[in-house]
Amino acid sequence: MSDIIQLLPDSVANQIAAGEVIQRPASVVKELVENAIDAGATNITVRVKDAGKTYIQVIDNGKGMSESDARLCLERHATSKISNANDLFSIRTMGFRGEALASIAAIAEISIKARDTGNDVGTHLRAAGSVIQSQENTSTPVGTNITVKNIFYNVPARRKFLKSDQAELRHIITEFNHAAMAYPDIEFILIHNNTQVFSLPASNYKKRISGIFGKNIQQKLIDIKTETTIVNIQGFIGKAEYAKKTYGEQFFFVNNRYMKHPYFHKAIMKHMKIYYPPTNTQPILSFSRLIQEP
Ligand code: ADP
Ligand code: MG
Repeated sequence: MSDIIQLLPDSVANQIAAGEVIQRPASVVKELVENAIDAGATNITVRVKDAGKTYIQVIDNGKGMSESDARLCLERHATSKISNANDLFSIRTMGFRGEALASIAAIAEISIKARDTGNDVGTHLRAAGSVIQSQENTSTPVGTNITVKNIFYNVPARRKFLKSDQAELRHIITEFNHAAMAYPDIEFILIHNNTQVFSLPASNYKKRISGIFGKNIQQKLIDIKTETTIVNIQGFIGKAEYAKKTYGEQFFFVNNRYMKHPYFHKAIMKHMKIYYPPTNTQPILSFSRLIQEP
């Protein structure tokens, strides 16, 4: 039998790897917003068109990037967040694998405008399908401004799998809200097709929750705070009279990272059964923030 194994070209390998990180426009929003948070931004604006299918822009006022970092950030495994395997045990950032921007650049057109504090001029880089097309000086504020156009333009099979605009926008709002809930001290703005969906000024957890769920929620919340030798738990639960049957409005964060696990939902349920007759209802909102030191 003749040899049948061949090495995949980089472009195909990149597209396959990108599939792990980027499933839909909301994945792009999540990755770009997490990068903005990691960059120390105090203001993050997310602008999308057609539920992110044609246009996603995330603008931050974080520490920005130098000319060469703006090029390097598109490489796979390019990260400023860890430098050796030991660093994995003390991660303080949302990202660390250096995969997101490389993945986005593999399956979309990306434009990065960035300036760091050490530079008077910024840089503007454009890439598509993992290939850098141009880089030039530009005037731009300190921070990073990334635009991602035509997601999956070169992977039609994946583009076909995108849901309706309504469904994709819902995914984007979910990701946006998770980040906004975890970081109330950062101002977050979301604009869809030139309409402002959320404008959340920097504030505290309680105000941020009502910024997202509406003012009425304030009177429904009870503060909780517990410190143990293993974890500190801080958050809010809803008053019994507002209990719901589903747990779609329970949110858990560990070290500011949103997480979902049936164990935690069940733990809340189990405790609430004691306090929340009738027994088949859920607290309307349980926003728990676990802080665990590594
Ligand atoms: P990771 O976040 O895992 O490091 P990414 O591909 O998301 O990987 O980003 C690669 C690198 O690009 C980051 O480590 C960071 O140095 C830089 N970077 C990305 N986005 C921003 C941003 N908004 N502001 C400043 N630097 C950024
Ligand atoms: Mg990242």
